[in-house]
Amino acid sequence: MRMSKLLVPTLREVPSDAEIMSHKLMLRAGYIRKLAAGIYSYLPLGLRSERKAEQIVREEMDRAGAQELLMAALLPSEVYQASGRWEVFGDNMFKLKDRNDRDFCLGPTHEELFTQTVINEVRSYKEYPMTLYQIQTKYRDEARPRFGVMRSREFVMKDAYSFDKDEKGLDESYRKMYEAYCRIFKRMGLDFTIVDADSGAMGGSGSQEFMVKSPVGEDGIAYCDACGYAANYEKAQCIPTKKEYPEGDLSLEKVETPDVHTIEELVAFFGTEPYVFAKTIIYKADDKYIAAMVRGDREINEIKLKNLIGCVNDLELAEPFMVRQLTNAEVGFAGPIGLDIEVYVDLEVAQMKNFIIGANETGYHYKNVNINRDFTPDTVADIRVITEGDICPKCGKPIKTTQGIEVGHIFKLGTKYSKALGLNYTDESGEPKVVIMGCYGIGVTRCIAAAIEQNYDDNGMVLPVALAPYHVIVVPVNNKDEEQMKLAEEIYNNLNEQGIEALLDDRSERAGVKFKDADLIGIPLRIVVGKKCNEGIVEYKLRKDEKPEEKTIEQAIKDAVSYIKSNL
Ligand code: ATP
Ligand code: MG
Repeated sequence: MRMSKLLVPTLREVPSDAEIMSHKLMLRAGYIRKLAAGIYSYLPLGLRSERKAEQIVREEMDRAGAQELLMAALLPSEVYQASGRWEVFGDNMFKLKDRNDRDFCLGPTHEELFTQTVINEVRSYKEYPMTLYQIQTKYRDEARPRFGVMRSREFVMKDAYSFDKDEKGLDESYRKMYEAYCRIFKRMGLDFTIVDADSGAMGGSGSQEFMVKSPVGEDGIAYCDACGYAANYEKAQCIPTKKEYPEGDLSLEKVETPDVHTIEELVAFFGTEPYVFAKTIIYKADDKYIAAMVRGDREINEIKLKNLIGCVNDLELAEPFMVRQLTNAEVGFAGPIGLDIEVYVDLEVAQMKNFIIGANETGYHYKNVNINRDFTPDTVADIRVITEGDICPKCGKPIKTTQGIEVGHIFKLGTKYSKALGLNYTDESGEPKVVIMGCYGIGVTRCIAAAIEQNYDDNGMVLPVALAPYHVIVVPVNNKDEEQMKLAEEIYNNLNEQGIEALLDDRSERAGVKFKDADLIGIPLRIVVGKKCNEGIVEYKLRKDEKPEEKTIEQAIKDAVSYIKSNL
């Protein structure tokens, strides 16, 4: 492709609403353009990268024996109503009505549709195991679309679903997908970690996420270098740590604490450490309110808590007026004593002695509180966020934490959807059984953003060869120079003939501008045809290298072909 003909509207300025590098660079390099919050168009370069990611996914899915099909994105509501997810997705689902007032949605994920297809189309148990997949556009009305295509409202996902006769079959289908995922992310040049993930309150026997470690990742990961344990925060088991508390059975005392609301203010007021306090947070859990308590230096993990309660919707902090109604106090003074709702207590709180809590009275706290003497928790469980300084639940060594971008998720669903929708089969002996399912997702568009987050420098993207929109850019320094242009054309044609996707920068721009653009758009290899071309010498530079090398034309072409082919 000739740069003079390519739609590549690069921007010198960084768009103001882009917070992270991948988003900034995709806009600046003319890969994507925003249409509305979380909705993007793919311009030619962005689309080429996206298609390459799709193709890697497709090849590896096919290699693993999965079959591709394609479902509609505009879906009738009935099947989601049957599974209960019409309600569960709530505002996250784009819902609409047709001219006859029938409910439809734009598919956020397709478990129900695949289950229904298998119910309708599979005739015999002999057809299992079967894994079906599609690469398709998904719609989710995310509460906080941000970071460009990383968390968008329209995105491309590969979703696969496995159907097996029994648990053993599921284990095998799951293993195949696990291996395919490892190959996919490796081919994409991503540095990834596999973590144990939460399989939710609704059942499922196992789940893992493929995470790209990155400071801009929205998921917390806990990992242990000593034994290899890795889990996301929702799943990471917290081992209670011990702290020193005043000895003895001290008597409960109500202390006046005017204008003292936060843990920081309490610490200053009482002149003690945060772990001497237990904080009580009131949540709305579906249609009821509950209280949850963690130590003052800890945070509640709302997903752990949600799963424990078994509620359908995400937990929400109780509205201030409800906090006032339930505790008879302003926000900041809640405590479990005399509170008339269920109280969930973290394992660590259960070990505390003579500690401090809110008194359910504005301007007061209780001191020397002891569990079971002063209040009785309804449930004691691990409901907190793991932190650096915690110990590994597997080997006891110190845990480390980092942020990750979830690029893929594999999940043993079990019978959740097959039971809800009636996907059964009759086995060899004529016995009726329920089909066991797994589901496997990859955020294809998110993978591009993740790859950029891991591969950029001050000048732009440094894309892995496998995801770059073009492999090589041939740059004549001066396109008025006939000899340079002729040679550049020859190199360009030669590369294309050998299956290398080459760009020719034939624009009448200054060389500096051409180099800047080539760097910005992340082309992995640049061949510059300059003054020395009459000696048969060109400049060869890998995008990731600091300095160019001089090579003869033949050598440059030969090296380019072998470099690109070995990195695909
Ligand atoms: P997240 O926790 O990031 O919201 P999820 O767990 O809801 O993701 P899944 O339902 O597991 O996502 O979807 C499969 C894959 O689709 C995810 O692993 C992720 O890579 C991708 N994905 C999910 N939501 C988005 C989004 N809003 N924008 C881009 N990719 C997404
Ligand atoms: Mg997920």
